[in-house]
Amino acid sequence: MTPDEFRRYGKQVIDWIADYHESIASRPVMSRAEPGDVLAALPEHPPEKGEGFDGLLAALDRDIMPGVTHWQHPSFFGYFPSNSTGPSILGDLLSSGLGVQGMMWATSPAATELETRVADWTADLLDLPAKFRGNGAIQDSASSACLVALLSALHQAGGGAPGPDGIDRRRTLYISSQTHSSLEKAARVAGVGSANVRVVDVDPVTLAMDPAHLDALLTEDAAAGAVPAMVCATVGTTSTTAVDPVPAIGEVCRRHGVWLHVDAAYAGVAAVCPEFRWVNEGLAEYASSYSTNPHKWMLTNFDCTLLWMADRAPMLNALSILPEYLRNNATTSGDVIDYRDWQIPLGRRFRALKLWSVIRWYGAEGLREHIRTGSGLADELAALIAADPRYEVRPDHPFGLVCFRPLWDGLTTDEANAATMDALNRLNASGDLLLSHTKIGGHVLLRMAIGAPSTERRHILAAWDRIREETTA
Ligand SMILES: *Cc1c(COP(=O)(O)O)cnc(C)c1O
Repeated sequence: MTPDEFRRYGKQVIDWIADYHESIASRPVMSRAEPGDVLAALPEHPPEKGEGFDGLLAALDRDIMPGVTHWQHPSFFGYFPSNSTGPSILGDLLSSGLGVQGMMWATSPAATELETRVADWTADLLDLPAKFRGNGAIQDSASSACLVALLSALHQAGGGAPGPDGIDRRRTLYISSQTHSSLEKAARVAGVGSANVRVVDVDPVTLAMDPAHLDALLTEDAAAGAVPAMVCATVGTTSTTAVDPVPAIGEVCRRHGVWLHVDAAYAGVAAVCPEFRWVNEGLAEYASSYSTNPHKWMLTNFDCTLLWMADRAPMLNALSILPEYLRNNATTSGDVIDYRDWQIPLGRRFRALKLWSVIRWYGAEGLREHIRTGSGLADELAALIAADPRYEVRPDHPFGLVCFRPLWDGLTTDEANAATMDALNRLNASGDLLLSHTKIGGHVLLRMAIGAPSTERRHILAAWDRIREETTA
């Protein structure tokens, strides 16, 4: 593709994306494709001769779009939002345009130094503790961030070497039933094993981790010869946005000398608003590592997770390997950061560009306004639900997620759960909106996550009307 051809088709693609965003609200939120539909529409074999770009957008509309669920739709409430915005798309495009591999400072100094700067900008925006400054890096996902934290913690806890007595010890990880599944996966990947993942009790009402039970498990495991490696506390759980008591958990971790990772993948970015700064409680005193996702609720396209370390040394000791072919003067001098040592893969995209573009475009003010809109709409919706005696709504919904259930009169719990699931499936199949569900205390709850930039009050009111139509027998 010559630069001239690129210019011509590039303009078409930008127009296509702009048209898509303009018309997105008129599409059914969820794809209606059946399994195999998209596959059947595509040629079984690749072309022998290049086909050029002319037919591609038509094929996209015809063959691909029917299989697309519209995550940026104003009535997409199904999972946590995965914000995509103009400045972020353009930043990502610039990154593709440069085609830089930013694995080391020497492979493109700007990729490293812009990332250091935007990680610090984000720490600034969220008012994170000073110890994280200069110690942040962009990961592809919160799952990777948790794995990097766990590998660092394992290294800190002895690095897999046998104890002084020569006996290999079990390493243990502490989570709760509400912790994201990526933590158990990280335990499997890191060789800790699912059997060494200890599940700490939660408060039955708030679903927050119980620090006293954590304390008891740590004591019990250490007495049995295990080496507790890491505790993961969550601020804003995936199921209901419950918040673990980080200061109390941190106190327990400190007493036992255990690494504390705080996973705030979704809710952490709310701290851009001063009224949400409480989400940072305990970080300064206790957190060894902390992660949050601009790619959920902070207007930045997937993938963009920020991971900060209180001390980068355990991570670097755990993850840096310098093969001969990567040896260079900048690395040897020790004056530069090589982000390849801060993640699992070697190669890395220039993701800082899109975060830079987002922060510059919106400013702190624009980011705050976005969080406040989502959180405010959730408050309004929760008040509407609470005012209707046919529904029960969970009381805490600071982060745009409202969990509620219809109280089907006269039905047993099992029957009510089945009726709720039926209603959910009908709602989602209608294409008018997309919700998801969770299960708490034996009851199925509907989850409505509000936080797309295109979502307005009218979309919430329309959704509530539709939900009532489907969930009142
Ligand atoms: C979404 C989420 C994750 C996983 O995020 P990815 O970036 O998709 O890996 C982890 N923890 C919590 C609390 C989440 O909500």
